Amino acid sequence: MNMKFFIRTYGCQMNESDSERIAWLLTRRGYKRTSDETEADLIILNTCAVRDSAERKVWGKLGRLKDLKRRKPDLLIAVGGCMAQSYGEEIIRRFPHVDLVFGTRSFVKLPDLIDERLSAGRAVVDLSESSPFQFTPQLRGNGIKAWVNISTGCDNFCSYCIVPYVRGRERHRPVDEILGEIEGLAREGYKEITLLGQNVNSYRWKDVSFSELLRMANEIGGIERIRFITSHPKDVPDDLIEAMAELEKVCEHLHLPAQSGANSILRRMNRRYTRERYLDIVRKLRREIPHAAITSDFIVGFPGESEEDFEETLSLVEEVRFDYAFCYRYSDRPGTKAASMEGKIPEHLKRRRLERLIDLTKRIALEKNSDLLGDVVEVLVEDVNPKVKGELMGRTRTNKIVFFRGNKDMIGSTLKVRITEASYWFLKGEIHGDPRFLDQSGR
Ligand code: SF4
Repeated sequence: MNMKFFIRTYGCQMNESDSERIAWLLTRRGYKRTSDETEADLIILNTCAVRDSAERKVWGKLGRLKDLKRRKPDLLIAVGGCMAQSYGEEIIRRFPHVDLVFGTRSFVKLPDLIDERLSAGRAVVDLSESSPFQFTPQLRGNGIKAWVNISTGCDNFCSYCIVPYVRGRERHRPVDEILGEIEGLAREGYKEITLLGQNVNSYRWKDVSFSELLRMANEIGGIERIRFITSHPKDVPDDLIEAMAELEKVCEHLHLPAQSGANSILRRMNRRYTRERYLDIVRKLRREIPHAAITSDFIVGFPGESEEDFEETLSLVEEVRFDYAFCYRYSDRPGTKAASMEGKIPEHLKRRRLERLIDLTKRIALEKNSDLLGDVVEVLVEDVNPKVKGELMGRTRTNKIVFFRGNKDMIGSTLKVRITEASYWFLKGEIHGDPRFLDQSGR
């Protein structure tokens, strides 16, 4: 089998991770991966349904693929992930040139589904939820950092979110399996792992909590950095903050989606924490790890959001001073509770609020990054800067992107870099000291 496949991934890290699994499953069957969609025999769109804008991108892409399919009638087009789970057969009805639709839990069967499509000669749709859930191995990219899934699905049912419907209830992965995977990654030379789940803090396997899992992972030799995403503010116990402070490999960065600064909106969102509780977590984190970075997500224009509610979001941002925040306009997700709520906010108002929030978060991010000017920071070098010849790209422990001049041999090493320039989303710097004399940890 010499079929070539191309995967385009939309959405979150969970989808990125699933795409790596899909790539592993197909490669094991003899398929070859290509980064050029025009030479592929199989194009897979691994989709996201979290926002209306993400869906529109996929519908647009499917429309454009019609031409390619006309020119290459043997081309197979497969749609997987959250949109596939949500729309199912409707995708085939709207785009009859699609060959295969597979859901968030049936991707493990993808090679067989392709065979079925080829022998049946008609489109195949598989959204089965009964397929045994597997954390199959992944075909990973760069050999430096890796996602490690610890759970999947979500039980939280935030009123705006479609994830619990398309990814199912929360399931946790056995602790031995997780640690075994991290040990394997360490043997392969990986330096950084990110523990991944829709809500990592609620992880539990028998008597092992998430904080205990962090402690166990911290013991694994070879791994230099441990990150985790995503955390839910309702599940951040003190012992997690203590573990972050104590464990030398756990990076000083917490991504903690706030979504809104107004209690009435948090209630309508079914977030199950208050503004006060959120600020309490931030205070504790800053007390234990003063230089920790905190990033967040916000939704503006949630149904019923008044001007005063929105001002509370702005004041939360001012108070916490996030290192970065991802801000979005609310959009209805069919089937969720929020979609049928009263008090929908007109689009022009949502846009105006979004602009104000983005301006504020950018200004604060720039101020925070500017505070680092002249500092020497530890950077794990991940890659070249694709846009500037002779430059490398790496990240600080606080997850800030740093560009600096260097050579390709430095990729994978941890260097000290003096910060010389700051923008709101990246830093620039120069290597500090002679990299030949730096040890693994950059000292
Ligand atoms: S915690 Fe809320 S926003 Fe996050 S995946 Fe679960 S339901 Fe969606």
